[in-house]
Amino acid sequence: MSCVFCQIVSGEIPSYKVYEDEYTLAFLDIGPVNPGHTLVIPKKHYVDIEETDAETLCQVIRTVKKVGLSLKKNLAAPGYNARVNNGAVAGQAVPHLHFHVTPRLENDGLKLWPQKKYEAGQAEEILKKIKIV
Ligand code: 5GP
Ligand code: ZN
Repeated sequence: MSCVFCQIVSGEIPSYKVYEDEYTLAFLDIGPVNPGHTLVIPKKHYVDIEETDAETLCQVIRTVKKVGLSLKKNLAAPGYNARVNNGAVAGQAVPHLHFHVTPRLENDGLKLWPQKKYEAGQAEEILKKIKIV
């Protein structure tokens, strides 16, 4: 078994566990963006969102919510980011689905991703391609 997160689930690799239930595990990221940065994973191996069944995704989101509440309550974080890097091009380094739950503090210096503007007509063109009917 070469997946690092499966090895964390099995205990072959140690981790600081924040929460665990039958379907999900939450543990501290080894390289935190802010202290308390937690990864939430399904215990079963799924590469990405597309591969994961809806029931499991719901379990994962339930755990994201629990972790987010704990960060807010216990770290006095007014908010948090909950983010999936879905696919290598999106920054996914570990091919086992995971949500990053990152506590955010006032003036913590972290920036969101840079945003662009649509050219005239571009939004309509994109919408034609991606609208789900
Ligand atoms: P990705 O770039 O795939 O969205 O995020 C992978 C995350 O996993 C990174 O933030 C990285 O710090 C974390 N990570 C990688 N290997 C380990 C490990 O062995 N233990 C823990 N706790 N986190 C890890
Ligand atoms: Zn895995």
